Amino acid sequence: MTETLHHWINGARVGGTSGRSGPVYNPATGHVTGDLPYASTDETRQAIAAAREALPQWAARTPLARARVLFQFKYLIEQHFDELAGLVSAEHGKVLGDARGEVTRGLEVVEFACGIPHLLKGEYSENVGTNVDSWSVQQPVGVCAGITPFNFPAMVPMWMFPIALACGNTFVLKPSEKDPSCPLRLAELLQEAGLPDGVFNVVNGDREAVDTLLTDERVGAVSFVGSTPIAEHIYRVGSEHGKRVQPLGGAKNHMLVMPDADTGQAADALLGSAYGSAGERCMAISVAVAVGDDTADRLVAELAPKIRALQVGPGSREGVEMGPLVTAEHRERVKGYVDLGVEEGAELVVDGRDLVIEGYEDGFYLGGCLFDHVTPEMRIYQEEIFGPVLVVVRVPDFERGLRLVNQHEFGNGTAIFTNDGGTARAFSSYAQCGMVGINVPIPVPMAFHSFGGWKRSLFGPLHMHGPEGVRFYTRMKTVTSRWPQSQPLPAEFVMPTMK
Ligand code: NAD
Repeated sequence: MTETLHHWINGARVGGTSGRSGPVYNPATGHVTGDLPYASTDETRQAIAAAREALPQWAARTPLARARVLFQFKYLIEQHFDELAGLVSAEHGKVLGDARGEVTRGLEVVEFACGIPHLLKGEYSENVGTNVDSWSVQQPVGVCAGITPFNFPAMVPMWMFPIALACGNTFVLKPSEKDPSCPLRLAELLQEAGLPDGVFNVVNGDREAVDTLLTDERVGAVSFVGSTPIAEHIYRVGSEHGKRVQPLGGAKNHMLVMPDADTGQAADALLGSAYGSAGERCMAISVAVAVGDDTADRLVAELAPKIRALQVGPGSREGVEMGPLVTAEHRERVKGYVDLGVEEGAELVVDGRDLVIEGYEDGFYLGGCLFDHVTPEMRIYQEEIFGPVLVVVRVPDFERGLRLVNQHEFGNGTAIFTNDGGTARAFSSYAQCGMVGINVPIPVPMAFHSFGGWKRSLFGPLHMHGPEGVRFYTRMKTVTSRWPQSQPLPAEFVMPTMK
């Protein structure tokens, strides 16, 4: 059965009026499960208007009152935990355990945002001049927008809106058109938690909605997570329209495996980080850099049978380790990269292209693929594939491995597996990436730290959630104050300095 989906504007479900819509699939079966309306400019403006209207009252609430709504929201997420994870798995395809992990990671940002009274405490300096005091406060930016990717339909929106709302902003979310049901459900839970109508809105759709959010003068800040070409578009158009923007882009994360590392452990770490969520994670390791031929031989020998034994199937089935890709189109794109790797001369050690799952023949499945002897000139090394494809590049020493990490256009995350503290320390100091793991393959920072890459993985200065999230969603104001003294001060024509 196909469900007709909706927008969420001013605290209510709103059907689409643009006449444009698109299908939502269950990737495990390949069947269409939803029809999603794509918002017109007018519909997007209605959501912005609702957020603008709700802003003064929400911003005027005390931080503690806002935090109490988020505490209630946290409670409701816990009550509806399995339902939310089920929605993620049904539209994205990831296995249920992974979907639960995703919801938990989003929930942790809500928990962080519940501490907003403490996080918004400003700075105060007494007597910056004689009888003059000065303090800084962080005030809301206004109406904020979030545009999010398909691969984390629960977590990535929750990287943004809990902190934005806690800081006193109102919000318009444009989730991925591939898996919108979880974000729509989160909107209902926010209402149930006591969030006033209009403070949080969801518009579904494509570029028309996004460009309206980027150009409407009532929107003060735009957060984006997605692919690099769109992140660049968001950065350019949003900046041209005077907004603060925070666009996070694509990735090609390298993991260095040193000769002294336990290759069994490194292989297990690679298995989870390269093939978990079918490789559709911006922090997936997609390049294993083996230092020395002996390390590479041992690593590939450990990896290959484990990849062949991966349990692939529908995400809701017990024991499944890897679900399908998100759409048939994306599966064809990833398969195309595997064909390309063969043409480019890399050695395809494990070929998952012909995998068919019995009973789920129309699902968007692809088995795990492993390439060895990949070189930096190959496109399968350079470009983000975003599927269950791991490439092994062989380098003779640490320096050349590090150089590889640093010369790549993306700089999201990276990791090193070693038993040598000095090597690990040098790696973490010199790697040109925003997030580094030492014997940790997916170094996704916790909610109270900030998440973000370097180079073409992030445009603009501020990372997401944690302290940088609070900075992004607030504007600083510094007040300097003097109360009249018994002696009036004469006019001064020189720049005031501290006396
Ligand atoms: P995407 O760039 O195709 O889409 C992201 C969002 O932008 C969606 O809401 C989509 O509707 C919208 N969009 C798509 N085309 C647009 C256009 N022409 N104009 C305006 N908006 C447009 O990304 P995706 O396929 O949904 O997600 C996968 C990508 O996201 C990968 O590149 C992955 O690395 C990246 N990602 C990055 C991070 C990070 O933290 N850096 C996290 C998750 C995903």
